Amino acid sequence: MIESPLLEHVQGFINGDWAQAQSGQTLAVINPATGETLSKVPLMGHDETRLAVESAQSALAQPAPIEQRRQWLNQVADLHIEHKKELGRIITLENGKPWKEAQAEAEYAAGFYRYCATHIEKLKTRHLQEQPKNHTWTVHHRPAGVVGLITPWNFPLAMIAKKLSAALAADCPSVIKPAEKTPLSMVALFSLLDQVGLAAGKVNLVMGHADQIGRVLCEHPAVRTISFTGSTRVGRLLIAATAPHVKKLSLELGGNAPFVVFDDADLDRAAEHLIQNKFRGAGQTCVCTNRVYIQRSAAAAFIEKVAARVSGLKVGNGMEDGVDIGPLIDRGAVQRVATLVDDALTQGATRVAGKAWSAADDGCFFPPTVLRGVTDEMPCTREEIFGPVLPVIEFEDEQDAVRRSNGTEYGLAAYVFTADPKRAERVAGMLQFGHVGLNTGAGPTPEAPFGGMKQSGFGREGGTEGLFEFTEPQAIACA
Ligand code: NAP
Repeated sequence: MIESPLLEHVQGFINGDWAQAQSGQTLAVINPATGETLSKVPLMGHDETRLAVESAQSALAQPAPIEQRRQWLNQVADLHIEHKKELGRIITLENGKPWKEAQAEAEYAAGFYRYCATHIEKLKTRHLQEQPKNHTWTVHHRPAGVVGLITPWNFPLAMIAKKLSAALAADCPSVIKPAEKTPLSMVALFSLLDQVGLAAGKVNLVMGHADQIGRVLCEHPAVRTISFTGSTRVGRLLIAATAPHVKKLSLELGGNAPFVVFDDADLDRAAEHLIQNKFRGAGQTCVCTNRVYIQRSAAAAFIEKVAARVSGLKVGNGMEDGVDIGPLIDRGAVQRVATLVDDALTQGATRVAGKAWSAADDGCFFPPTVLRGVTDEMPCTREEIFGPVLPVIEFEDEQDAVRRSNGTEYGLAAYVFTADPKRAERVAGMLQFGHVGLNTGAGPTPEAPFGGMKQSGFGREGGTEGLFEFTEPQAIACA
């Protein structure tokens, strides 16, 4: 069992108090590296969610001035930094990613609260003059209402930071649901939020039955916006469930990122960035490369560089020093990745790095793998792999690379490596992806808007655009 000063209460949080499930039922949280049960969290459902929404609704009646909100946001950012080691440890134990990476996640999460604190002025009321009628207009950015925030397991602190920072900035009370695999990081966050002095009901935590919690959030009239990060499958369910209630949705969904390398690129740099980009979180990130497109004339040299680096990656328990890749989130995830690799091999691909995964020997640890001779038709390039597997495909020219990169229902992230700045700009303009890295495999940052095109979702997190995600502009004309 996990012991932590940040997990004194392993409970939900409703109306300013720690809360158990009314049924008394619990859900086990498992360490994917060891199979050990870390803790048991309350299994909540519609009743607790309704209470949470009602408490959030009451909190709406107590608006907080901008200066107060700025102070809260800075405090939350400071607490992330102060406790980053312990927050990181909790993330590693329940998610599996290496401890160093998990601490970096806590710092990254802090950046979103800090960004909103620094730029909250943008939400201030502004005045306009309308000349013909001589009216004065006042534009307010009102809080949208109670917001429902639903997060996945792959970044248990960062994904909520993107949402909660903007909700606190907009003065929207929230009802938060973490993923069932990683609720402890959220409980730890709430133990920090509990120190900040937020009004009761401003932040609420429910965990348990996803369908019941989701249904209340979709149907309760007080919930005006739902911000969801997760699979496109669940995103579609939320669109359908909220349609009768005409709610605003912000959806950060799945991806299928191409990583395009032209033959004039610095191949060592491209290989280095590819490894960083792909293997963070064991390849379980929405922005990580899902398919590599290498221009045919540079293919042999590039694949050799990538395979050599991948062969040097250390797989193991994320709490051990020097580990680059932890376990996947659970047995189901490993089985799915193994099937994608087997399908590719059966259909003619070749494994140039990595070994066959064995259920008996490897458990939740999947060997980092590079496949060449992959085609666009194979499931490993069509589906989101969500594991440490790199399929490499060769392409002919610029048009070919752009057409194949865009040949997916997803539009989240893409990367292009070339020595020609004009080509980089031209290709970026043709790519239908919300995030594009030119000669970098870097992911999102608190300063810039991030989100998907096509079936990767809509809405933006981060940057000025993200700051307005939970506001309703109200324009008042005065004669
Ligand atoms: P998921 O299965 O869609 O789950 C995400 C969250 O939705 C979890 O909290 C889950 O709860 C909850 N959920 C499940 N069914 C629900 C329902 N009927 N109503 C309301 N909530 C429901 O996704 P995941 O497997 O956790 O995460 C991986 C996916 O997230 C990948 O596709 C990845 O690309 C995507 N992702 C996208 C971004 C982005 O910024 N675009 C970032 C990170 C991840 P339970 O855990 O309790 O089932």
